[in-house]
Amino acid sequence: MTANKQEILAAFSEGLKKFDLDSSAVSARIEDDGILTLEGSTKTWQTAVDIGHMAAKLPGVHNVVSDLTAPGAVPLKRKDSAPYRAMGVVDKADVVIIGGGVTGCAIARQLTQYRVNILLLEKEEDLCEGSSKANNGMVHSGYDSKPASLKARLNVRGNAQYTKWSQQLGFKFNRTGSFVCGFGEEDRAAIEGLYENGVTNGVPGIEIISGNRAREMEPGLSDSVQFALWTPSAGYAEPYEVTLALAENAVDNGARFRLGCEVVDILTKDGRVQGVVTTQGVIPCDCVINAAGLYADEIAEMAGDRFYSIHPRRGALVIFDKENKGKIRTFSGVAPNNYTKGGGPEETPEGTLLWGPSALEVPDKEDRDVDREDMEFILEKGMRLTKGIDPRSVITYFSGNRAATYSEDFVIQNSRKIKGFIHVAGIQSPGFASAPAIAELVESLYLGQNPDTPINTAFNPIRKPEPAFRDCTQEERDRLIAENPAYGRVVCRCETVTEAEILRAVHGKIPARTMDAVKRRTRAGMGRCQSGFCGSRVLELLAREWKIDPSEVTLKGKGSEILVRPSRNTGRNAE
Ligand SMILES: Cc1cc2nc3c(=O)[nH]c(=O)nc-3n(C[C@H](O)[C@H](O)[C@H](O)COP(=O)(O)OP(=O)(O)OC[C@H]3O[C@@H](n4cnc5c(N)ncnc54)[C@H](O)[C@@H]3O)c2cc1C
Repeated sequence: MTANKQEILAAFSEGLKKFDLDSSAVSARIEDDGILTLEGSTKTWQTAVDIGHMAAKLPGVHNVVSDLTAPGAVPLKRKDSAPYRAMGVVDKADVVIIGGGVTGCAIARQLTQYRVNILLLEKEEDLCEGSSKANNGMVHSGYDSKPASLKARLNVRGNAQYTKWSQQLGFKFNRTGSFVCGFGEEDRAAIEGLYENGVTNGVPGIEIISGNRAREMEPGLSDSVQFALWTPSAGYAEPYEVTLALAENAVDNGARFRLGCEVVDILTKDGRVQGVVTTQGVIPCDCVINAAGLYADEIAEMAGDRFYSIHPRRGALVIFDKENKGKIRTFSGVAPNNYTKGGGPEETPEGTLLWGPSALEVPDKEDRDVDREDMEFILEKGMRLTKGIDPRSVITYFSGNRAATYSEDFVIQNSRKIKGFIHVAGIQSPGFASAPAIAELVESLYLGQNPDTPINTAFNPIRKPEPAFRDCTQEERDRLIAENPAYGRVVCRCETVTEAEILRAVHGKIPARTMDAVKRRTRAGMGRCQSGFCGSRVLELLAREWKIDPSEVTLKGKGSEILVRPSRNTGRNAE
């Protein structure tokens, strides 16, 4: 391996030459297992990222740990765990899952098929606060992941399972297909390349079709589209709905959730997991599953097994008013470049037109800005692909970060250093589409280490969601109101959300404590006025039900309080 290591480092030095650096700026070292670690600094973050990607592509490199800094870069930071250790043992579990995104919740549900004590820990005040809340909800077909990658395999398998998932868990899922559009012969090679990729990856029904045939299926497609890659298996779900459905079904089957509970250290002894230290105290356990999204590398570092770095890739999304419902139903994009699928217009299962995402490497995992370039990129691309949509009907925009490793593949494996520690990292797109297959793979890793785990014979995969008032017929509405008059009080006019549904969310299986948590469960505030009308009423209900002062109600947890001083007419301050 020594000669090999030298060859890798020589190839790295050769690769560095194309970056505008002085020779001492970046250094690399390589371990026997092919993990290359980078140190030093670069003038821009993009250069640091490009060097990481260059290094990851070198033959013999398994993954890259980058400690490169650049202006704006946020170094890995560890909280002092001593005060939290001092809180002592507060709970115990067989399996602790770190992260309440779609990945963690899917794993929790999957493992409830066995008789194990499962505890999911989430640092935020609600589930689905990371990448899982800010994505397109597209269940990709799998044409663009690199053949033989874990992403390719799990995407195609995960996609195939979505119909069953939606039937079992009661979330909306539209398998409408997707187009990647070609505007001229200059796009032909890229689209044929995607087609070949898709065939190799086993994408069902994939074909290249004419622009006219594409417009027969999707009349809203631009007249300038000449041909398109068509994949009928692509579909759409609402990511927050899926995540919550998984969590609720996991709760029904015995899993437990602790919110506002940040893991600050991993306890190990003699190469085995012993437990975790959290901001709520110490929790002994035998197995830790690291599904911490953007922070998976920091959790791996806590376990003494960091062999990848996560670099955040920001993506902004734009939402249009529902007046556009039905104008375009399937995703349409252009041939992607580099590491993004390219983004484009789509309609969510709720009938909301959604455009984006953009893709920008950012140095800070918490950077969720949307800037002018993001907006221009999204709107220009969307306008080129569609017709009949007025960009002035945009009602909101937001962004989220993809949790990418430099090898740009998922990292799902047992730790080679710490028994009982499972990495589920690098879950960038298509992580949402792949979630069912990711959960299955983690199940098999867990059972590999714990082969005698008893089956949970009471496991019930079915979740029956309560009806959404907006989807009910008049007859059903009348019946609901007769049973509970709170159904007769519409709080959110844009999305027709009633007081009864908000109370249901507040007292649900994973109780909603914040404005955003109510929004994700009910859609109150998601419509045209973006909570301008219903926000104050939701706030009052949260304060009343949680018996707190209205000034303590937050958008998404501590530090995001809505009212800056007591308001004249609400709650306890009314007198
Ligand atoms: C703009 C954008 C568009 C995308 N579009 C798609 C798409 O259309 N289709 C698709 O398949 N994928 C898409 N993706 C990718 C998809 O969103 C992710 O793959 C998926 O959401 C990852 O889920 P996760 O649970 O792994 O991570 P997350 O949702 O980020 O969850 C990780 C959780 O861990 C918690 N956490 C972190 N550290 C700690 C700690 N120390 N203690 C406790 N909790 C902790 C976080 O708060 C977070 O809630 C997109 C991503 C982005 C950003």
